[in-house]
Amino acid sequence: MSEVLIRGAEVVVTMDGARREVAGGDVLVRGGVIAAVGQGLTSAGRVVEAKGCVVTPGLVNTHHHLYQTLTRAVPGGQDALLFGWLKTLYPIWGRFGPEEIFVSAQVGLAELALSGCTLTSDHLYLYPNGARLDDTIAAAREVGLRFHPTRGAMSIGESAGGLPPDTLMEREAAILEDSIRVVDAFHDASEGSMLRVGLAPCSPFSVSRDLMREAALLARDKRVMLHTHLAENDEDVAYSLAQFGCRPGQYAEDLGWTGPDVWHAHCVKLDAGEISLFARSQTGVAHCPCSNCRLGSGIAPLRAMRDAGVPVGLGVDGSASNDAGNLIGEARQAMLLQRVARGADAMSVREALEVATLGGAQVLGRPDCGSLEPGKRADLAIWDLSGIEAAGAWDPVAALLLCGPTRVRDLFVEGRQVVGDGQMLTLDLPRVIERQRQLARALAL
Ligand SMILES: [Zn+2]
Repeated sequence: MSEVLIRGAEVVVTMDGARREVAGGDVLVRGGVIAAVGQGLTSAGRVVEAKGCVVTPGLVNTHHHLYQTLTRAVPGGQDALLFGWLKTLYPIWGRFGPEEIFVSAQVGLAELALSGCTLTSDHLYLYPNGARLDDTIAAAREVGLRFHPTRGAMSIGESAGGLPPDTLMEREAAILEDSIRVVDAFHDASEGSMLRVGLAPCSPFSVSRDLMREAALLARDKRVMLHTHLAENDEDVAYSLAQFGCRPGQYAEDLGWTGPDVWHAHCVKLDAGEISLFARSQTGVAHCPCSNCRLGSGIAPLRAMRDAGVPVGLGVDGSASNDAGNLIGEARQAMLLQRVARGADAMSVREALEVATLGGAQVLGRPDCGSLEPGKRADLAIWDLSGIEAAGAWDPVAALLLCGPTRVRDLFVEGRQVVGDGQMLTLDLPRVIERQRQLARALAL
């Protein structure tokens, strides 16, 4: 079996049970698995020198809409709240097809990889003009990230009192049928899996109560996870109270949308009762601090959720509401935002890194990922701290979020190198970026 020895790192951040940090550390990778972490390791295989670098577990992204990389910084949506922003972008997204979905996913996935991400979920909830979940899966296989795509859906259009235009709606029977198709075709439940499919009706304001319930039943039947948007801002909570007569947490619980196999994006407005419901039921949260800032949604109660024992990971969210997809930047933002809300001791660098790695792996149901320990999957990021950003830093681990860099030197997923010397090794990035530019220009006409 092939071996890679990452040798002589300034420090290896393991995120193991003792949160060990190994100065002058090595990581031995055998096949797709971590074989050893320590000092003075040897190997007859390939050696990657990591002098001046911090090695961390690969970061985990728990919420994204990869297709949105094609609609970043759209003028009409730059300064709008969530619902207004959505209404500006829905008609543009309605003109997408399979190539737009594929190329935008290549861009989004590469952007994540360059920022240290080795495992990402994606929430694709519109399928215009023949687009399919398969298009994003093809992109992820090429880029080489571990991928948890979710089969999203919208079924309540404007004419039925929902937010999105009717043209983007699917019939609920067809949604369930295609959900079964993609789970049967692609879902791999095995340890070390590179691809797991989840079910993800878009949000309580774009699908029916029936579809939420049916999706939960189907997910349990197929043993796959459930994902949606919840309690994103005040409008979202007001909609729930007006339409359903209850808060979002109650709505989720009533429809079977709580439990360790469920994670909700945002949860900015969870109240104390909802936080305790999520902790009791081990329902996960994808915290998306940049998106929450960009759309003015508020500061999610990350400190309170962590203290209560709610599983929380980070999400960059769609790149139309961030508009970046830089995951290490998201970890910094999560740390800063809790400090805005609760003071400078509200969240440490190391805790933010834990949320970005272990936390995300827990949310996505991946005990085989998220830390650097023998037997865990070989997903790791190598950060070069010898550049300008961290020059003069006293603590290399703290420097990673307090200073930078924001781009990895090298990235390994399942023992395979995806990024080398800061460049994508798995795809021709300049060509992909040029194609994305052409597609964006065509959409803007
Ligand atoms: Zn989202």
